[in-house]
Amino acid sequence: DRIISANLMMEDQVEELSLRPRYLSEYIGQNQIKENLKIYIEAAKMRKEALDHVLLYGPPGLGKTTLANIVANELGVNLRTTSGPAIERPGDLAALLTNLQEGDVLFIDEIHRLHRTVEEVLYPAMEDSALDIMIGKGPSARSVRLDLPPFTLVGATTRAGLLSAPLRDRFGIVSRLEFYTMEELSYIVSRGADIFGIQIVGDAADEIALRSRGTPRIANRLLKRVRDYAQVRGDGMITEAVAGEALQMLQVDPKGLDMIDHKMLNAMITGFRGGPVGLDTIAATIGEESQTIEDVYEPYLLQIGYLQRTPRGRIVTAAAYNHLGIPYPEDRG
Ligand code: ADP
Repeated sequence: DRIISANLMMEDQVEELSLRPRYLSEYIGQNQIKENLKIYIEAAKMRKEALDHVLLYGPPGLGKTTLANIVANELGVNLRTTSGPAIERPGDLAALLTNLQEGDVLFIDEIHRLHRTVEEVLYPAMEDSALDIMIGKGPSARSVRLDLPPFTLVGATTRAGLLSAPLRDRFGIVSRLEFYTMEELSYIVSRGADIFGIQIVGDAADEIALRSRGTPRIANRLLKRVRDYAQVRGDGMITEAVAGEALQMLQVDPKGLDMIDHKMLNAMITGFRGGPVGLDTIAATIGEESQTIEDVYEPYLLQIGYLQRTPRGRIVTAAAYNHLGIPYPEDRG
């Protein structure tokens, strides 16, 4: 797997528990979302009501799961965690819902992957705290309504566009997570080093932050690899030189691009004069799935202005040519 993949990998799991911020005050960045949540949470607590349902969307690794945990902690309620693909039948969701206590948070990751029939169970649950159950079959079948304790659904998705309108409309709070700034990531790296009990100089934290693609999960992962390098090759302290060498060994360039990004941009430049070229064509050329390119590789390249999306396909920008050290074709203006 790619070192800079934003997706959760096995190796992250242990560390993610210790590095994961538990309260809003520890959660770095995403200031607008934090401000809003703080007010809504405070208000819900004052009224002794369940918080409105929350939808969090944005690329992987930006802190959606972390925020769901924080919401439950700040409210002082239990958190139940599941994911869209894990709920196979309506009955599975009904079981989860009936086990909630008043005010609890139910977190559904990858909520865009919920089955249609499962999703329909959510509508009355979200709107009226109720569960509609069908009893019997055929002409004598009838629907019975069960009351549920009021609860808060926190949904997370990387693809808000894939959510059905009736589901999306039932969230009172909808927040889009943004990529993190260099400063925020550097702070996250320093905080992680603190938790690991290792020393890191500010410039080394910046160096790691620069290559983290705006994503805390990647920052934490790079920090771990650099820590290993520092322990084996140095005296454990992460200096700028140690960080630089370790990152070079990991083949992550100063913009956070790895071999696959390079392969993709180079293929578009040499094979298609920089585009426009369709997503499926790119995918076939470099042997990746279109979906993976769209969800994982492309968002960051679009964000830093190395790729542009047009109706006719993707285009490699002058900035990317410049970064790769390839002359930009003059006839492209
Ligand atoms: P997502 O659910 O969006 O894929 P996660 O919530 O699992 O992302 O975040 C991945 C890891 O990144 C977390 O375990 C945590 O260590 C770190 N992280 C995410 N957001 C922040 C933040 N705002 N401040 C500090 N660390 C963060």
